Amino acid sequence: MKFSGLQRISLVDYPDKVASVLFTPGCNLRCPFCHNWRIAVNPQPPFLQETVAIDLLESRKKYVDAVVVTGGEPCMHKELPRFLAKLKERGFMVKLDTNGFFPEVLEECLASVDYVAMDVKTCKEKYSLLGAKDTACMIRTIEILKTGKVPYEFRTTLVPELVTMQDAVGIAELVKGAKTLALQQFNPADTLDRKYQALKPYAPETINEFAQIIRPYTENVQLRL
Ligand code: SF4
Repeated sequence: MKFSGLQRISLVDYPDKVASVLFTPGCNLRCPFCHNWRIAVNPQPPFLQETVAIDLLESRKKYVDAVVVTGGEPCMHKELPRFLAKLKERGFMVKLDTNGFFPEVLEECLASVDYVAMDVKTCKEKYSLLGAKDTACMIRTIEILKTGKVPYEFRTTLVPELVTMQDAVGIAELVKGAKTLALQQFNPADTLDRKYQALKPYAPETINEFAQIIRPYTENVQLRL
């Protein structure tokens, strides 16, 4: 397996843990608000080889609790389950970020992860705006995670136009019965589609209204503003 980069320290990518973050190249989606588009759309060398990444992580083990694997979309890489098992064997806590479009790979990963964060980006009808032809795989992953085999969260970035109040009901229906949905503020800087850089993020009061809509459907709604 190879990576587009390694962030040595992050305090925000794993709940309550100090983590290193590995970025996998490539993505099946084309979210117009993507901030990682350089590695998602057309990843370029130099890549970090797996053995080098593991050596770097081992050398910094005393400073970090966990490794977060994010992208791009990690689960589009069939070697991912084997790589995560290696991290586990070496004693790391492991968190996996995913857009949910590869449920078979995700299922293979579950034995080796401590936490999964899945983006539920909008209601299923609007996924075509993100480049998805079909949402069946994404919905299958939601159902797998809801079984609670590993701790998980769903998360939605509140991108104006892509996530409206009406869409919030569709999102709530998708995650109905889940433990946690985190609502994240949209950052208009350096987006894949430059038009999104002109969008004004929702005001905190509006985000609270989103939370009110979703609250009856999930155990927790977290706000990340
Ligand atoms: S799924 Fe994530 S990495 Fe892929 S295009 Fe969307 S925001 Fe970017």
